[in-house]
Amino acid sequence: MRYIFVTGGVVSSLGKGIAAASIGALLQSRGFKIRIRKLEPYLNVDPGTMSPYQHGEVFVTEDGAETDLDLGHYERFTGVDTSKHDILSSGRVYFDVLTKERKGDYLGATVQIIPHVTDAIKEFLAKDTQDLDFLIVEIGGTVGDIEGLPYLEAIRQMGHELRHNVLFVHLTLVPFIPSAGELKTKPTQHSVKTLQSLGIQPNILLCRCDRIIPDDSKKKLAQFCNVPNNCVVEALDVESIYEVPLVFNEEGLTDRILEHFHLESAPGSLEKWKEIVSKVKSPKSFVKIGLVGKYVGLQDAYKSVKEALLHGGFAHDTKVEIDWIDAQDMEEKGYQQRLASLDGVLVAGGFGKRGTQGMINTLGYTRIHNIPTLGICYGMQMAVIEFARNVLNIADAKSSEWGEKGTDIIGLLTEWVKDGDVQQRSKDSDLGGTMRVGSYECHLKDDTRVKKAYGSTIIHERHRHRYEVNIDYKAQFEEKGFVFAGLSPDGKLPEIIELKDHPWFIGVQFHPELKSRPFAPAPLFKDFIRAALEHKKP
Ligand code: GLN
Repeated sequence: MRYIFVTGGVVSSLGKGIAAASIGALLQSRGFKIRIRKLEPYLNVDPGTMSPYQHGEVFVTEDGAETDLDLGHYERFTGVDTSKHDILSSGRVYFDVLTKERKGDYLGATVQIIPHVTDAIKEFLAKDTQDLDFLIVEIGGTVGDIEGLPYLEAIRQMGHELRHNVLFVHLTLVPFIPSAGELKTKPTQHSVKTLQSLGIQPNILLCRCDRIIPDDSKKKLAQFCNVPNNCVVEALDVESIYEVPLVFNEEGLTDRILEHFHLESAPGSLEKWKEIVSKVKSPKSFVKIGLVGKYVGLQDAYKSVKEALLHGGFAHDTKVEIDWIDAQDMEEKGYQQRLASLDGVLVAGGFGKRGTQGMINTLGYTRIHNIPTLGICYGMQMAVIEFARNVLNIADAKSSEWGEKGTDIIGLLTEWVKDGDVQQRSKDSDLGGTMRVGSYECHLKDDTRVKKAYGSTIIHERHRHRYEVNIDYKAQFEEKGFVFAGLSPDGKLPEIIELKDHPWFIGVQFHPELKSRPFAPAPLFKDFIRAALEHKKP
């Protein structure tokens, strides 16, 4: 087993996640088996309780872990499903160490960061790695952060213990300073010095830059940072993230990695990446999709949704342009105008009442005006409420999430189902870890759009929600052409709805975006973009 540790320096947001994912994809292209893990410095036990504005999207794994959006990049780039064993936060490590301490498992020892916390980190990394050639590990944050120190110490120890089976990649910024008319190497030098002071000598520098780094600057970086000249790898800004593996490979990153480990491989092919990039750069058609959500101020809050829309476009050589629409703006007078110009509308997930009336207005408009519509999670729940209010005339239809008086068309299972098994899945206690999260089976109804889109009767999709559509209203809805097109295997949970008399109006309780990959677009997104293209036709 070989380890590749990816650290970051100078500033955050340089794309460490994409870098780690690209390294994974490149090694795969040479026939190696890889896995990517992330070490998160924050003290939350998991990001499930963090605001989307702070942390961006919560990426949900098959096995129901609420994780960081970088795991989404790993899955999209490598096609390898991540799991709860692929992410560790400082909060989790301390929680586990302290739980052991309380149980007396340390047999009276003084519990310390070194060795107890660092050992726990090393154990985490070594778990379930038997059949891998490489484990790539991204260390969150920036070198020098206090929170990240135990991680850096743990990987330093691993470098010491495993020697040539460990490679350190350091991603930094080489900024262009307009007044000097030059790219500056100093921030990288400082960042590497910090890393060296912690006992880590990077083997490869990945230098983010907005223009080509001149040879003399590269030499300077190599010399002052103590790496071979050819290990200063330029990471030039690119138009699309899907170009990154190609650029890295061209710059010799794959070869440098293999040389370090004294490995040889066949040249491998990056043809599929080239194909994707050509789809990005020269599309045959365009569609404009409105993405209506509560957190559009931070686009990272919809990372997987955005990527899945692009993937859906790839399937039809189409560029998807996204109009980011704040759900609350759809509560203002004249909101209809913005919707009328769109080829499709996606109403995204969310929590809490703010913005829900805007979602309901949006869904009412797209329903009546035959605009292709995809409602995801909260988006589906709001489609149900809109229909209940405006077609079934249940004027006070609402979700029990809002804690108001009215008819709960959406609510906690425990509010109407007296079945121990189901109750277990939806506890209404504290906020951490009480949701239906992870992959669940869903059975699709015959003669529905979704069944055609998926091409099968049984599907598995990932969930993350606390509330459910109340199945007791099924007959009332279906009478008016609002079809419950997908149900949980026990038939108790409505998972998909679609409108019979509409060109394409689908709501899903799960998050289909989480399983979408550039090379295998999620079926619903693929079909949604097809419908949007059709709608666009004059
Ligand atoms: N707030 C809703 C629920 O908890 C929807 C969640 C979501 O959109 N992810 O059920």
